[in-house]
Amino acid sequence: MTNCDEAMPDFDRDLKKYDRQLKRGFKKLTFSGDLESEFRYFYHARNVVKQRGAILVGLILLVLLIPLDMEYLRGEAEHFYLITRAVITVPLLALALILTFNERFRRYFPIFSFIIISFIGVTTNLLVVYMQKALLHAPYEGAMLLIMVAFFLGGMLFRQALVCILGIALSYIVLSELYLPPEPYRLHRYFFILATCLIGGVSAYTLEYQVRIAFLQRGALRYLAKTDPLTGLLNRGAINHKLSQLVEYAFREQKTITLMLADVDYFKPYNDCYGHLEGDRCLQAVAAALGRNCQRPLDFVGRYGGEEFLLLWFDAAPKEAAGFAHRAKDSIEELRIPHFDSDISEQVTISGGMVTGVPSQPEQAEAILQQADQCLYRAKESGRNRVIIQDLGDENSIIALVK
Ligand code: GH3
Ligand code: MG
Ligand code: MG
Repeated sequence: MTNCDEAMPDFDRDLKKYDRQLKRGFKKLTFSGDLESEFRYFYHARNVVKQRGAILVGLILLVLLIPLDMEYLRGEAEHFYLITRAVITVPLLALALILTFNERFRRYFPIFSFIIISFIGVTTNLLVVYMQKALLHAPYEGAMLLIMVAFFLGGMLFRQALVCILGIALSYIVLSELYLPPEPYRLHRYFFILATCLIGGVSAYTLEYQVRIAFLQRGALRYLAKTDPLTGLLNRGAINHKLSQLVEYAFREQKTITLMLADVDYFKPYNDCYGHLEGDRCLQAVAAALGRNCQRPLDFVGRYGGEEFLLLWFDAAPKEAAGFAHRAKDSIEELRIPHFDSDISEQVTISGGMVTGVPSQPEQAEAILQQADQCLYRAKESGRNRVIIQDLGDENSIIALVK
């Protein structure tokens, strides 16, 4: 389950953040606050197929290249090459391929990419310069291939890939300048390598920008799908989903669930008296006030229907229930919204049905709702503007009557 699964952080507490970031825009390919770590989590940990494909392509290219390279290498260089490629790089890539089946490793894939690509780049540059110094032909074009691999297959974010690539390009230039006699074609070589960095860099930047926009849009859509547009609280679908998860979790961990259904008293007369628009404003104020009652990490409030709200407190001691009910009722009274057509008060009030206890089955969400609904019905029947609290599963108990 999303909220309680330790392997995956809970990114759903503030679903508005995607929309906020979309509106604000983002500079230098970075989101603000937790959103950046969430993006990286998904970008790195959720791309297994791409990672496997990338390693496989890397391995195939390398295995095809080894016999070609061996053609021109001689003496010490041949030795160095065999050690760096056949003994170090190929087994490391094969190991990485196996490790992609391990969830923990997947997150470290970009760091691994950074190290292995830099290693291949710098050792290739050393070989090329060494061979050229010995006046033997050595192809430098491999560096350009590696630049593309780093930008598009390494699973690195743009900035990390850029550092890796500039390291490889600059090491080539520095080694050439240090060890090779100046000759006219070298400037052309530098130009082609730096031009590949530029073209690859612009494309990789654009690609990551689009991926980030798609990530934010997906999050914003999730927010819309889960939220009630009038009040901004969770909607009925999201409530049902979250409640089933929490009941199952509470059963497994033997934790208490305290659930309250709250309904605005005489709301039809309110609409009739003040008009539907004023009714909407009243519901928004009630929703915001109730929303402030459930603040702990797994607590939540949602709009269950019309003028009915659901409040849930997770893992609170049953003796706290009466206090919660008092505070919820008071939070509405403190709004002091006039209601001259109410038979029981001169301002808007709510009635509530509350149940509290440890679930006795994992799939008890519906039964809990039914029991809370019965309590609400009794609160209405017995005069409204009150909350009836029962023990979960015991319909004859009344723990408290909060007026
Ligand atoms: P009770 O005290 O028994 O709860 O009486 P009530 O009048 O509140 O209950 P009833 O179910 O008869 O009326 C609920 C009203 O809530 C009727 C409906 O028009 C109104 N309502 C539901 N959704 C909305 C909404 O989104 N905006 C507005 N303005 N009114 C709404
Ligand atoms: Mg009502
Ligand atoms: Mg109602």
